[in-house]
Amino acid sequence: MIDKLNGKIIIITGPSGSGKTTIAKNLLERFKELSFSVSATTRAPREGEINGVNYFFLDQAQFQKAIQKHELLEYQEVYTGQFYGTLVSELKRIWTENKIALFDIDVKGAYVVKTSVEKNIVSIYVKAPSLDILKQRLVLRGTETPGSIKKRLDKATEELEYTKHFDYVISNDKLEFTEKIIGDIVEDFILEPLKKSK
Ligand code: 5GP
Repeated sequence: MIDKLNGKIIIITGPSGSGKTTIAKNLLERFKELSFSVSATTRAPREGEINGVNYFFLDQAQFQKAIQKHELLEYQEVYTGQFYGTLVSELKRIWTENKIALFDIDVKGAYVVKTSVEKNIVSIYVKAPSLDILKQRLVLRGTETPGSIKKRLDKATEELEYTKHFDYVISNDKLEFTEKIIGDIVEDFILEPLKKSK
């Protein structure tokens, strides 16, 4: 199905706290060719989040139904009891609008997409310069409890094993510099012609 529609995908992935969401937002502001792929999730909306804009907020039963009906390109239980998944309908919408889909998804989900879609895709893994710096950032963000910081650091350690599967691994030391490098990668990818199906 994906191959027949033949559009482009950009994946931004990396551990929680690496800065990937800020980078994804910067790309969307900068390149009108991109469109954000709105994921489905079972987590509760945060203040200010809008259904259909930030996520499609589903309950557990609705999410399971979406899995059974093959409506998800990939899905992961990113945190215990909290599922996130990429909707095939979003890809269709974006490609019908002749745009490039931008995914901001977790590392394991990104790995699944990267290994199942062979062409017209670029994958960028954003990492913090070190686990100590990642810890500092999570503490400064102020949204995490000590327990959840530990969980995220354990997960980040595991996620480092996956870096070899992605096209680019960028250490986000200075945000401005990282945004420039990733912007250049994305610009080249936008200009690249579509590779045709065999
Ligand atoms: P948050 O709850 O902070 O918005 O997102 C938590 C994590 O889930 C982030 O790493 C985010 O990139 C990831 N995520 C968001 N959407 C998807 C998705 O569709 N699939 C997967 N695998 N991860 C997602």
